Amino acid sequence: MVIYKTNAELKEFSEQRKERAAAMLDSIVPEKVDSTTYIVPSSDGSKRYTVSHIDTYSCDCPDFVQRCKGNGLYCKHIQAIILFNKLKNKVEMDDFDVDSVMDEKLCPKCKSDKILKFGMRANKSGTKQRYGCSACGFHFVLDPLNIRNIPPTS
Ligand SMILES: [Zn+2]
Ligand SMILES: [Zn+2]
Repeated sequence: MVIYKTNAELKEFSEQRKERAAAMLDSIVPEKVDSTTYIVPSSDGSKRYTVSHIDTYSCDCPDFVQRCKGNGLYCKHIQAIILFNKLKNKVEMDDFDVDSVMDEKLCPKCKSDKILKFGMRANKSGTKQRYGCSACGFHFVLDPLNIRNIPPTS
């Protein structure tokens, strides 16, 4: 087992996995097995890891077993579940329609560009893409027509 000594190393390790987790949620959807168990497919779909959450999170991937466990760190699969649940809970609380025109795909709340596609939402006017901000957890739906293409000024 690798032991990480400095806080800087620990922080970097954790940040890397958070970023990978956010990228993963663009292409995969974790599967909830029961209230404490999730299945997280690998990005290419070739493997499935089991993340369980009883008192703390654990995962059966080699990264968690060899590097995270014992260092108080989480692998990208666990980070993905944490982020997934954070976004999921937010949806029910404050799903928000962005009616104003957005120039770019930035979070309307914190202006972060860490926007994830988070499923579709159907309502009377059609189906809209739902987005979640992985920086602040804010959720919104956006009609693709509302994304303005700015013509180049000359
Ligand atoms: Zn894992
Ligand atoms: Zn945000």
